[in-house]
Amino acid sequence: MEASLEDDYEALVQFLYMAPIGLVQARLDGEILMVNPLCAQLLVPLSRDGSLTNLFTALEAVAPDLRHRVADFGAGHGMVCEGLQLRVALNPADRRAVQHLSLTLLKLDAERVMAVLGDITQTVARDRELRQSQAWLNTIVTGLTDYALMTLDEEGRLEQWNPGVERVTGHTRASAEKQPYSLFYPPDATTPDSIRDRLFEADRSGWSVDEGWMLHANGSRFWGSCLIAPLHAPGSGLGEEPRYSLIIRDVSDRREASDALRRAVSCDHLTGLANRRTLYDAAELELQRWRRTPRPLSLLLVDADHFKAINDSHGHAAGDAVLRHLAAGLSATFRAVDIVARLGGEEFVVLLPGATLDSAEAGALRLCQSIASQTVHVAGVPIRYTLSVGLATMEAEIDSVDALIARADRAMYAAKSAGRNRVMRWLPDMQVPTPRASKAGTTTA
Ligand code: GH3
Ligand code: MG
Ligand code: MG
Repeated sequence: MEASLEDDYEALVQFLYMAPIGLVQARLDGEILMVNPLCAQLLVPLSRDGSLTNLFTALEAVAPDLRHRVADFGAGHGMVCEGLQLRVALNPADRRAVQHLSLTLLKLDAERVMAVLGDITQTVARDRELRQSQAWLNTIVTGLTDYALMTLDEEGRLEQWNPGVERVTGHTRASAEKQPYSLFYPPDATTPDSIRDRLFEADRSGWSVDEGWMLHANGSRFWGSCLIAPLHAPGSGLGEEPRYSLIIRDVSDRREASDALRRAVSCDHLTGLANRRTLYDAAELELQRWRRTPRPLSLLLVDADHFKAINDSHGHAAGDAVLRHLAAGLSATFRAVDIVARLGGEEFVVLLPGATLDSAEAGALRLCQSIASQTVHVAGVPIRYTLSVGLATMEAEIDSVDALIARADRAMYAAKSAGRNRVMRWLPDMQVPTPRASKAGTTTA
């Protein structure tokens, strides 16, 4: 028992000796009784004569009142000072050569004090860097009033913002706090899925940027550029809660130029709808999202009935006017998140993210009924036309945009065969279309 206690004591002394903090025991007058190597290393450069006999003398230059603090400390034992920061100039010629020490002094009893000394130079430097970059960031965040800067939580809800938010979007703390950032978009331009998709994209590629119509709090629209970037380290496994920064800028000025360019590249020249390439790009993205998280994704293939006959009886220009009329009907029927594109000729595609077969079918029926009930007047000539629509929805076995469109195409041909002016869903036993069924003349009102 005795031997074991002695061993324990020996181990403890050994530990204190080797401990990664400086430890020193001294009398109340400062005379050093015991000091471990690290403490000696920290104290020797401080002591003027290089000797280490008195703690207070050694610390005289950086903590001149230590001797008095101990002398004035009335209690029998206790904390004389805790975490006192000492600034040590290592080289009088170099102002930046500074060491920072932390000193904690304990009165052990009527005769002894114990000091704990640590080198906190790096911590102090890191703290200072952090303070400086925070101050720097604050200057930017409050100074850039043309930029609305916000942070978002993992669901895309607003957490913090700068004064620029009110200037750019018109929203105040009261109207924006904890709201999803879809607040800044026209009502049907986003869905909960599209909101999350952008956060996911930011995680994956470091940022997500888009440009388009945004909604001001007063109901007006502005052309905005919106950047989302993760503030956490995605996939670091550090268990950090995801946070994002959101930056919105009103770029209405440059809209005209960029709009014209965008249109030239991505829009169909006759109708102004998305062109085939834009459709395929968007559909490919939606298919990738579907593979990550399956959710409803439907597609309509819309074809004007007996369109050739319109051209034949009224001329190509009348045909063009009908195509523009149909494009307007499509845009009016579907949401801004839907992608309405002209595939070519008198064939159009509508890609409906988040739409089930039922809701896509409801939209298609509304479109068919609306078109069939209207008369288009071209140069005084009334023209009526109808539509055949094929409908397909995304499923696991569909491996490409073409495969999804092919299903809708088969359904569309089935609608033609069944008499036109109707909507049909794709069914597994639908045959690959053979050359089209009989064509009656166009109906002219
Ligand atoms: P169906 O009911 O079976 O769809 O018959 P349809 O006449 O609509 O189909 P078809 O494919 O035989 O004819 C399509 C016509 O569309 C032929 C082509 O000349 C015409 N077309 C294609 N692009 C344009 C265009 O940009 N403007 C005009 N005016 N006509 C076009
Ligand atoms: Mg046709
Ligand atoms: Mg066709």
